[in-house]
Amino acid sequence: MIATKGYAAQNAESPLAPFSFDRRVSGPLDVHFEILFCGVCHSDLHQVRNEWGHEIVGRVIAVGEQVKKFKTGDLAAVGCLVDSCRECDNCKQGMEQYCNDGPVGTYNSYERDGKTPTYGGYSNQIVVNQDFVLRVPENLPLEAVAPLLCAGITTWSPLRHWKIGKGHKVGVLGLGGLGHMAVKFASAFGAEVTMLSTSPSKKEDAKRLGAQKFALTTDATDTRPLKSYFDFIIDTVSAPHDYNMYLRMLSTNGVHVCVGAPPAPSEVRAMSLIANRRSIAGSSIGGLPETQEMLDFCSSYNIVSDVEVIAMKDINQAYERMLKGDVRYRFVIDMATL
Ligand SMILES: [Zn+2]
Ligand SMILES: [Zn+2]
Repeated sequence: MIATKGYAAQNAESPLAPFSFDRRVSGPLDVHFEILFCGVCHSDLHQVRNEWGHEIVGRVIAVGEQVKKFKTGDLAAVGCLVDSCRECDNCKQGMEQYCNDGPVGTYNSYERDGKTPTYGGYSNQIVVNQDFVLRVPENLPLEAVAPLLCAGITTWSPLRHWKIGKGHKVGVLGLGGLGHMAVKFASAFGAEVTMLSTSPSKKEDAKRLGAQKFALTTDATDTRPLKSYFDFIIDTVSAPHDYNMYLRMLSTNGVHVCVGAPPAPSEVRAMSLIANRRSIAGSSIGGLPETQEMLDFCSSYNIVSDVEVIAMKDINQAYERMLKGDVRYRFVIDMATL
């Protein structure tokens, strides 16, 4: 086993604290890498604070004898997944996130053997099968690449699936970790982007990130002209909100894509969908091929996340600030401080 240093919460109430554990032994198909940065994702909070990080970038320190894709010294990354069945229709199409057998999560999960825990990225090193390791371009600031592995791919995947680009009007609901990436990608794809936010203080940032328009969703003078306006809405909000209000903003055949997950069910009126033949849909992270495609695109177009780098010991304080929305737009832990 590989002795590993990390940070973890022992139960839902306790703060994160230093923690030592063993990683599984590195096999012939595995990539063993030192973690340099790990993003702090909001869904970490959903894991009743018993969580571990899944926006992981680092440098390879060893590879198994059958590993062809990586060599020692390469940059490498891991997102939310470290394995899947690889045999179902979804896996075969590179949609491992929808594996029919349930993919193996990077944290709070067990390897395919059903007994080896996966420990996530709040740690100094990780061992992952090469098929679930991403190549990281050398030309981007590494700390700002980390959030692409979850916040980035979560917004990239639906934008690509619905072929959103030039000629489309896109509303991005919520400007946080997910929202700021949705704005960057949608505008890079050539869409007209409107930021939909409850916070007037986000207006300047939305423009800087690439949004052409800004609408304060609490102000009827802003929202009234948006009736039947958008082709797509990317909804990143995980707090309770009224879907009907936003569905009304969709034009004919418009699609409201949920990537944020509010804790409680919400009421959707059939008439909100019937008018203009609208749809409401959801999308979860992305598969390995499209995650690599995203990283390569980011390398070509110089796109990264806006981050605030923190020391490991400041993680609990960062959580408190994240709960208040006080981060622009992702905390990333410098693992050298572990
Ligand atoms: Zn995440
Ligand atoms: Zn599968």
